[in-house]
Order: sequence, then C-alpha cells, then structure tokens
Amino acid sequence: LAVPSSSQKNVDGNAEGAVVLALDITEKEETDGIRREFSANVSHELKTPLTSILGYAEIIKEGIAKPEDVKGFAAKIYSEAKRLIALVEDIMKLSRLDEGACELPGEVVDLQEICQEVIERLKDKAEAAHVTVEFAGSSDGSPIHVTGAYAMLDELVFNLCENAIKYNKTNGKVKVDLTDNPVKLIISDTGIGIDKEYQERIFERFYRVDKSHSKVTGGTGLGLSIVKHIVKQHHAAIQLESELGKGTTIEVRF
Ligand code: ADP
Repeated sequence: LAVPSSSQKNVDGNAEGAVVLALDITEKEETDGIRREFSANVSHELKTPLTSILGYAEIIKEGIAKPEDVKGFAAKIYSEAKRLIALVEDIMKLSRLDEGACELPGEVVDLQEICQEVIERLKDKAEAAHVTVEFAGSSDGSPIHVTGAYAMLDELVFNLCENAIKYNKTNGKVKVDLTDNPVKLIISDTGIGIDKEYQERIFERFYRVDKSHSKVTGGTGLGLSIVKHIVKQHHAAIQLESELGKGTTIEVRF
C-alpha cells in the first residue's frame, strides 16, 4: 500500500506515495461504482419480466381474463420466462468470467472448427431472418489454432455471429473471415449499423441501442460485454467499424 512515509518523500520533502494512493482509491471507487451500477441494473432487468409474468398470471388466476385472451397471456408469460432464463445465464457467465480472471486454460483451440460449428448452430436463425452467412477460413480447411479456453472462444464467435444476424436486414449478408499469422477473426454484416455516438457504449453491460428491437430479437444487452471480457482474457484485441444503415465489421486479433 502506498501510504506516504518518510522513506517515500522526494528531495523536496513531498510525499510521492500519496499520488499513488489517490490513484488506488480512484480505481477502487470506480470498480465499486461499476459494481453498484451493475447490481442495480441486474435488479431492474430481472424485475421487468417478472412483473410482467406476475401481472398476466394474476389475471388468469383471478379468472378475470377473457377465455380468448388466455392463450395470448400464456404466450407472454412463456416468452418473458425465456427472457429471464437468458438473462440469468448471461449474468452467471459474466460473474464466472469475473471470478476466473486468472484461470484461463491453455487449451489449443481450432477457431476454424468453432466458426463452422457456430454457423451451423445459427443456421435456422439466419434462415428465419433471411440472412446468408458466408465463411472463409483457411483455404485447405486446415486448423487455425489459438491458445485459450474452448468454451469461451465458442461463446465469443457465437455472440458476434448472432449479433451480425440479429441486427441485419432482410436479404442481408454476414461474412465470417478467419486468417492465420496473425490469427484474425473478422465478422462483417450488411445490417442496420451503429451510430458513432453509441459505438463505444455497446460494450457496456446491459447497453442496447434500441431496447425495443432487442426485446423482439431476445437480447440481454450482455453479449458484447461477455465478448469484451473473453477478448481481454485471451490477450486479444477487438475493433469495431460501423456505419449507420450500412453495416458493421468487428475484428478480433489474437
Ligand atoms: P444484445 O443482447 O442486446 O444483442 P449485445 O451486448 O450483444 O446485446 O449488444 C449490445 C447492443 O449493440 C445491441 O443491443 C445492439 O443495439 C448493438 N449491436 C451489437 N451488434 C450489432 C451489429 N452487428 N449491428 C448493429 N448493432 C449491433
């Protein structure tokens, strides 16, 4: 701890250590602030679908729902409950990532295989959104290796590809490019794009540019903060380029 002491005074007798202490406190206050804001956001995000579920369930329970409305109310309860599960899962993922900050397994992971599997898993979603997904990996199909955690890298590729599909337009395109030496993953879409003023904010927890759109597409607002965390843990770098109405390109460099 940088408590100023006589041994930490400089030639003018000023305590240099005090500056370090001030920085430490600022950093801690910032982290505490982020934590408090996160807890408040978590409570709010969980409360919204729960209130809705409670409201519809009460109307049905009290027998005051018109018979023709009951099915619609049940569907609302179902989709809000699904949203709750997605939220709880994402919150748990983030808290696991926070906890395990230093315990990254040193697995040799084939990103080529992950990209192919993720695209296959998202096939139905892409078809439903009328979006085509194209993959360009190594020319001979040979693996493209990075060291890290398989599950995390899978999550990273999935979240980025899912967003490129979700925030696309009808008949839009998604291109997933993977190169070796250096290992680079570039996901570009011809979607709705992101206004300059929101481009940094979308990596914040729970931040969504258009909350109503995210509700339709089932977003939690946590996907990109999970991505940011995974990138950091893999000592990789992420870069975003986007133009409103034209599309978005996200590059992850390992
Ligand atoms: P969500 O669960 O809402 O998708 P994310 O953290 O993954 O949360 O993304 C945060 C927000 O960033 C989204 O709600 C959306 O507004 C914006 N966004 C993310 N990816 C894209 C993209 N490829 N194109 C346009 N907007 C995007």
